[in-house]
Amino acid sequence: MTDYTVSRPEYYVQTGSMFENPHGVPHDEIIRMILENPPEVTAQTVFGKYVESSGLVFTGELIQQAIDRSLPRVLGNYWVADNAERDAREYYIANGDFWGPRYHTGIDFGRQTDFTVITTLDCWVMPARMVYYKRLNRVPWEAIYAEVGKVRTLFGENILCDSSGPAGDVIMDALGSRVYCPTHHRTLEVGQRCMRDGKFRTGCPNDYIPLSSADGYVFTNLSKKELVDNLRVVLSATYDAGDSTKDFGYVRVPPIVQLEEELSFYTWDDKRLMTDCLFSLALACWSGIEEATGNVYEGSVYGS
Ligand SMILES: [Zn+2]
Repeated sequence: MTDYTVSRPEYYVQTGSMFENPHGVPHDEIIRMILENPPEVTAQTVFGKYVESSGLVFTGELIQQAIDRSLPRVLGNYWVADNAERDAREYYIANGDFWGPRYHTGIDFGRQTDFTVITTLDCWVMPARMVYYKRLNRVPWEAIYAEVGKVRTLFGENILCDSSGPAGDVIMDALGSRVYCPTHHRTLEVGQRCMRDGKFRTGCPNDYIPLSSADGYVFTNLSKKELVDNLRVVLSATYDAGDSTKDFGYVRVPPIVQLEEELSFYTWDDKRLMTDCLFSLALACWSGIEEATGNVYEGSVYGS
């Protein structure tokens, strides 16, 4: 077997191997990752080695700490936490039909060829937990708006979405003027009712769900950096440099393979990278996790 643990100490900072991980990644799982992945991935995710010269933004330690490996791996494009929809509904009713600040959704809209990703966090207690994840590839805008309506119905009105550029204006205008019918999983212009073959459909709720609560986040070089930096702060919150065995971080996610890859390979120059899952999560964190405080300092769990 190739020895991936090449000795280049001037380029690597040891931040802890997954083999030593007290959270108990199964040994055969680690071996399988080593065998199936290229060495950069192994260095990053299995051995926790941060390749300083490559400009990776999220270290293996930050990423691994955020991933709850008691949950099954998510290889597909959809995941919802056990009982999350029922819990949210019961909470909403018990809270007097008021969502409040508990759930926060981040949406990165796909443009030409990339994906639309929707991520919802339950921020009731820290660390916040991902409860909902959906990744859509090149579907019509009508279908995407309906998915916004669905997550709005399930988890409430705290929605922050990528509203950059001319397309962002169109999206925000559309969301502002639309309502969602959960029975028929479609959106309508305000004032319309669901129809088919020239007749009103039955089963619609008395009041459709408005989508106008969605807020926009405009990506500029600066605002994007702030968003990513905030995600790093969230991932590293409560990190104790004096005790590397203590859990840290204000967010936990299931082992979504796509998300883990995007985090592992993210660099500030991201033009050629897949980033949809990462930014969806970052937007949800920006919306829902405010008290994450901490200083980014070099040479620890942080990258450059
Ligand atoms: Zn309807």
